[in-house]
Amino acid sequence: MKKKDINKKPRVGFFKCVRNTIPIIIGASPGLFALGCVIIVVQSILASAQIYVLEFAFNGVTAISEAGGGAVLDIVLWLAVYAGSFIFATILGQIANRTDTDFMYRAENRQTKQRFDKMAKLAPIIFEDTDRLDDIEKSSAGADSARSLLNTIKQIVLYHIPYFVVTSIYLASRDPWLVASLLMIFLPTLLYQYLVKKIYRDKEDKAAPDRRLSAHYIECSTSEKFFKETRILGGFGYFFRSFHVLWARIMKLDRSVWLKDNWMFFLAELLTFAGKMGVYYMLFRFLLVGRITMGEFAAVFTSVNTIEDKLHQLFYGSFASASRDLPFIENYVRYLDFPENDGMEVELPYEIGIDVRDVSFSYPNTEEPAVRGVTFSVKPRETVAIVGENGSGKSTLIKLLIGYYRPDGGDVKICGWNTKEISFSSVARRLSAVYQRYPHYALTLKENLIIGQYEKESTDENMREACAMAGFSPEEEWLPNGFDTMLSREFDDGVGLSGGQVQRVSIARGFYRDSSIIILDEPTAAIDPIEEARIYGRFAELSRDKTSFIVTHRLGSVRLADRIIMMKDGKIAETGTHDELMAKDGEYKKMFDSQRQWYEDEA
Ligand code: ADP
Ligand code: MG
Repeated sequence: MKKKDINKKPRVGFFKCVRNTIPIIIGASPGLFALGCVIIVVQSILASAQIYVLEFAFNGVTAISEAGGGAVLDIVLWLAVYAGSFIFATILGQIANRTDTDFMYRAENRQTKQRFDKMAKLAPIIFEDTDRLDDIEKSSAGADSARSLLNTIKQIVLYHIPYFVVTSIYLASRDPWLVASLLMIFLPTLLYQYLVKKIYRDKEDKAAPDRRLSAHYIECSTSEKFFKETRILGGFGYFFRSFHVLWARIMKLDRSVWLKDNWMFFLAELLTFAGKMGVYYMLFRFLLVGRITMGEFAAVFTSVNTIEDKLHQLFYGSFASASRDLPFIENYVRYLDFPENDGMEVELPYEIGIDVRDVSFSYPNTEEPAVRGVTFSVKPRETVAIVGENGSGKSTLIKLLIGYYRPDGGDVKICGWNTKEISFSSVARRLSAVYQRYPHYALTLKENLIIGQYEKESTDENMREACAMAGFSPEEEWLPNGFDTMLSREFDDGVGLSGGQVQRVSIARGFYRDSSIIILDEPTAAIDPIEEARIYGRFAELSRDKTSFIVTHRLGSVRLADRIIMMKDGKIAETGTHDELMAKDGEYKKMFDSQRQWYEDEA
C-alpha cells in the first residue's frame, strides 16, 4: 500500500522555489547584493547605448567623407571617448566579478547553516525512506543551484530586459517594422527552451537512484570502511559488474537526452540563422527605398550579431541554466519542507522514568511492523537489558523509547511527556547513546570524545575516565600522540583503527557525555563476548544513578540488569530478572544455555 508513493514526488512550482530559497541568499549580505544590482544595471545601459553610439559614429563618418576629409580632431576625440568607455566597462566588469564572488561565498555560508539546522531538526525516520534520501542527497546541489538561479534572475531582470527595452525603443523610433527583427531571432530559441526543460527534469529523476547506487558500489570497493571485507570476499568483480550495469544505463540515458537536446538545438540554430537572413534582407530593402538612413542601416546591421549574442546569453545561458537548476532546487525546497521532529522544548528532570503503552511502529515502505503492542515502564535509575535475536526489534524499540522515532500506535511518555509532543533535542540533552552502527569521525581522539559537548571545558581527567570505562587508556600503543592522535589515516600522522578500537572510542564518547539516560546498543559486535561482558559490567557500575539500557543478543552481561526484556518478532516474549527468567525455563533460558560455552572458559 505504502509503496505506491515511490517516485511520485510532489512537484514544486517556480515561485515556491524562489520564495523558499532566494530570501535566505539575499539576506546573507543585502548590501553586496544591492551593489551587484547597481553595477549590472550600469552594464546594461552601457551595452544598449552602443546602437545609438554606432549610428552617431556612422553618421559622423558619412558627413566627413561627404565633406571630403578634414575634422581629424573629431575622430581622435571620438576614439578617446570610445577607449574611455571601454576601460570603464572593463574595470566595472572586474568589480562586478569580485562583488558577486564575495556575495556568493557569504550566501553559501548562510545556506550551509540553514542545511545543518534543518538536519539537526529532521525527523530521523526520514533517513529510513529511500525516496527522501534522494532529496537530501540532491539538496546540496540544490543549494548551489538556488544561488545560480538568483544570479540568473538578476541577469534577466536587470541586464537583458533593460537591454531589449532600450534596443526596441531605438528600433521602433527609426522604423516600427525593425522591431520585427528582434522577433525573427527570438522565436526559434523560445521554442527550444520550452522543450528542453522537461527533458532535463525527467533525466534527473531517472538517473539519481542509479547514481547513488553506483557511488555505493565504488565505495564498497575503494573505501577504507569496506576494503578489507571486499578483498577477502574477492568481491571486486561482483561490485564492478553491478557498477558497470548502472554505468551503462546512466550513460545511455545521458546520451539519449543529449541527442534529443542537440537535435532541437540544431533546428533552433537553423531557424535563427534564417531569421537573421530575413533581418538583413529587410535592412537592404529599407535602405534602398530610403526608409532608413545610411547611419541607421549601419548601426542596426552591425548590432544584429550583438543582439543575437544577447538573446543567446538569455536563452542558452540564463534560461537554460535556470531550467537545469530548477529540478535541483525542487529537491532542496522539498528537503526544507521535510517533517521535523518538532515539538515543545522541555527541560526534563535529571531522573528519567519512561512509560511505554501499547507501542507499534513500522518503517517506511515496509509491510511488517518492527515493533508491535509493546508495554512496559522504566523507573528512574533502573538498568534494563533488552535482549533477543537479531532483527527482533531491540534497536527499533530503543529509538522509540527516547523519542528518536515516534510510534505509529500507542504512546511513549518520558517523565510524563509524550514523545509525540516534545522535541527530540529535549531528550537528547539528557541522553548518551552508543549504537551498533558507530560513526568513525576523522578527528583526534580528544575531538572524538568531546564532540557531544564541545562547549564545556574538557579535562584530561574526565577524558581518561571515559576511556577507562571503555577499556583503554590514552597511553596505549595505538594512540601515539595520546589524546591528540588523529584517528584517520586520511590525514598526516593519523592512525588507522581496528574495528574493536573504533568501537571503544565510540563507547568512550558515550561515557564522556554527561547524561542521565544512557544506552549501549550492541556497540560491542567487534569485541569478543568476554570483553563485552567486562565493558557492560563497568557500564552498569557507572550508570547506577542513571536510567540505562543495554541492548544485546549476547546474554553474558545482562545478569547485572535490574530487569530483562526479551524481544521476539517485535513483541515482548518474556520479562523479569535473570533468575526469574531462568526459573521460567522459556525463550531466555534456551538462548542463555546455547551461549553458555562463550563464557565458561572465563568462569
Ligand atoms: P535488532 O536491533 O533486534 O537486531 P531492529 O530493531 O534493528 O532489530 O530491526 C527490527 C526489524 O525491523 C527487522 O525485521 C529489520 O529488518 C527491520 N528494520 C530495521 N531497520 C529498518 C529500516 N531502516 N527499514 C526497514 N526495515 C527495518
Ligand atoms: Mg539492533
